[in-house]
Amino acid sequence: MKVPQLDLDAQYQTIKDELEAAILDVVRRHSYILGPAVEKFENEIARYLGVKHAVGVSSGSDALLLSLMALKVGEGDEAITTPFTFFATAGCIARLKAKPVFADIRPDTYNIDVEAIKKAITKRTRAIIPVDLYGQVADMEDIAALADKHGLAVIEDACQAIGARRNGRMAGTFSILGCFSFYPSKNLGACGEGGLVTTDDDGMMRIIRALRAHGMTASYHHEWVGLNARMHGIQGAVLSVKLKYLDRWAKGRREIAAKYERLIREAGLNEFIALPAVLKGNEHIYHQYVVRARRRDELLAHMQKAGAGGAIYYPEPLHLQPCFKYLGYKKGDLPVTERACKEVLALPIYAELTDEQQRYVVDTIKDFYGK
Ligand SMILES: *Cc1c(COP(=O)(O)O)cnc(C)c1O
Repeated sequence: MKVPQLDLDAQYQTIKDELEAAILDVVRRHSYILGPAVEKFENEIARYLGVKHAVGVSSGSDALLLSLMALKVGEGDEAITTPFTFFATAGCIARLKAKPVFADIRPDTYNIDVEAIKKAITKRTRAIIPVDLYGQVADMEDIAALADKHGLAVIEDACQAIGARRNGRMAGTFSILGCFSFYPSKNLGACGEGGLVTTDDDGMMRIIRALRAHGMTASYHHEWVGLNARMHGIQGAVLSVKLKYLDRWAKGRREIAAKYERLIREAGLNEFIALPAVLKGNEHIYHQYVVRARRRDELLAHMQKAGAGGAIYYPEPLHLQPCFKYLGYKKGDLPVTERACKEVLALPIYAELTDEQQRYVVDTIKDFYGK
């Protein structure tokens, strides 16, 4: 038995003909960059999310960068974010010569802690970038209230949370700007790089649309200095096909999560493995199914040797990364994050994971703990 941590081929086989026809159609029309397939996807995803505008861009990283650029965050500014996320969330701040300020996370959901944000606000703070980690929306209402009180902008990094809801509202729609990634391993994955910025604000939409194409507002007329960060036609076509299946796949992931919970309990593994916490009002889409495990590194080695998947998101906190040394953080500064880095373990989860595969994963864990 082999259980890959991620199985792109299993999904591909279920939609192969439709996907290949959509790609070939773009190639035959030669509408490689933006064009009708991207416009169609932008309209569909805006409707799906319940937002006024969706702007297709080249990646989730660029979605974040464009959002900060649109807010004119730059040198001398601070932006508060979580140290327990993919690098891009903080990288975009530093790239604009602003200062990333890290606030610690909650131990239950691993999302940024609102009390920690409060303590991190200074006169220079301009923006907060919460992340909906692993597919569960952060405490967005409290963050919005705090931001309003201090006159700060919020950019929601929903790169891992497409289709998740909180109190009935979609991830990525809680603030002026929402960012998504269509990196192939994400729940809605392109056949290459892709990303999205969402907003209900007409002015922001106009700026983001311009900034993704060198700040151009009319033919060869540049109002701002922007990027080359346009979505490709092939990706728009692929994403339109996959969007139709997204909720079905999310339902499959939720069923697998519920089954992990049952199997782990039945195996008597609760003293070794802490299950993910889902807050009241949250609908998790399980981009990752992440547990806390005793002797995590040994367990991971055991699982990988047995071909039972396993991965760590994230092994090193951002505040201790070599590139952020200049910020002056030390070990012990953000203890909840540092502890999570040592304990979290992602188990394989995707809609096509079979019963047998899932049992094999749990049996492998059981075997490790000698149960
Ligand atoms: C994937 C991801 C990104 C970056 O997206 P790319 O499309 O890979 O550039 C940003 N933030 C988070 C939380 C992510 O998971």
